[in-house]
Order: sequence, then C-alpha cells, then structure tokens
Amino acid sequence: MALWRGGSKVDFMSVRTLNLTKKLYEYLLEAGLRDDPKLRRVREATARHPAAGMQISPEQGQFMAFLVRLIGARRCIELGTFTGYSALCVALALPPDGKLICCDVNESTTSQARRFWAEAGVADKIDLRLAPALETLDGLLAGRGGKGSFDFAFIDADKDNYEAYYERCLELLRPGGLMAIDNVLWDGEVAEARSRDPTAQMFRRLNAKIRDDVRVDMSLLPLGDGVMLARRRET
Ligand code: CA
Repeated sequence: MALWRGGSKVDFMSVRTLNLTKKLYEYLLEAGLRDDPKLRRVREATARHPAAGMQISPEQGQFMAFLVRLIGARRCIELGTFTGYSALCVALALPPDGKLICCDVNESTTSQARRFWAEAGVADKIDLRLAPALETLDGLLAGRGGKGSFDFAFIDADKDNYEAYYERCLELLRPGGLMAIDNVLWDGEVAEARSRDPTAQMFRRLNAKIRDDVRVDMSLLPLGDGVMLARRRET
C-alpha cells in the first residue's frame, strides 16, 4: 500500500505493474499519446469494421514507432496487416529510404490499407505481399539479402503459425535486430495453466521458449494484449 508523506504518496508501488483502471488508461492516453491525424483517421475508419479489435491500440502503435526510431530501423517486416494501422505507424517512423514488407492474405482489408498508406504519403515505403506469410518468409530467407538483413519484425497474424513465425523472423533479423510479438497475454487466458484454449497454450509455450532462448534478449510488456520483445543477440 502507498504511504503518504508531506501530502504526497510515497512510491512503494513500483515492485509490480499497476492495474490500469479506465480512468488511468484515459489519463495515459491524454498524457502519453501524441496523436497524428493520419493515424487517427485510420482508427476512426477501422472502428466501424466488424473485426476492429484486431487493430493495435494507439499507445502500442506509438511505442512501435518509438522502437523503430530507437534502433534506427530501415528494413522492417510485418506479419498481419489488417487495415494497415500498425504498418502506418512503422512507415511514418522510417527514414525516407526505409522499407516495410507487409504480409497478409486478405485482399479486402489490405486494399483499405493501401488507400490509407497512399493518403498518408508512405505507400512507396511499403511492399505488400498478398500470400501466406510462411511462403513470403521462406522466399526471403532463400533469397539474397534475406537472412540477417532485417532490423525490425512485428508478428500479429494467424496464431497457429506463431512458433514458426518466431523462428523465421529470428533468422531474418540482423544481430541487434528487434522482434515484437503481439497478443502474448491473450486477454489474460495465458495465466490459466489448464486453459483449454489452444491459442493460450501456444502462447504459454512460446512465451516460455522465448524467456529461455539464449539467442535473444527479451522483455514481456503488459501493453495492449501483451507484447513480447525479443532482440537478436550479437553472438
Ligand atoms: Ca493483435
């Protein structure tokens, strides 16, 4: 519990992460979000989509853009594009010669994405590959300049293939490159060891594997639905 001293709370709360109440979340957005009209437009247009929950939250998008700038990323890949919001966050953060490969299989949502990217002036930075992501990843790994050439990878696609996506993206990353994996807390279901949800069980395996994986540095963030960060080690 917090103590009060001289009219202020004393910080004894930082040994664990806060529960975000609705009020605190609203404050987090008010104090922590620098919104861009180009991004807001995509969120507002996508809010009417029946699968709108597949879009990442605005603070997560801003965090990913921050990471892209932090590591000076130029070459990025995303698995799972939906209507293009996360891709737009990344593309806006890339330098003019930066490139983002987007993997998705849905022609309808990605045609919306293409319109948003064009309106935001980043269409030339984005290379959309309409094919199963494993095919695109294997093609990149087999080709020249594939292995070890990417700075940043974001995985937010069909959950059945996450373990394979992790392995392939790790091969694509350069040493020091960063991967972000979405939904790793799976609406809290991962905490249920006996959950019958196969996706929760997959995330339990994958999260444990990454925690113990000596090839990466890692951090699991309670951001959005849980984001696992894995940085490929130099050796
Ligand atoms: Ca997601």
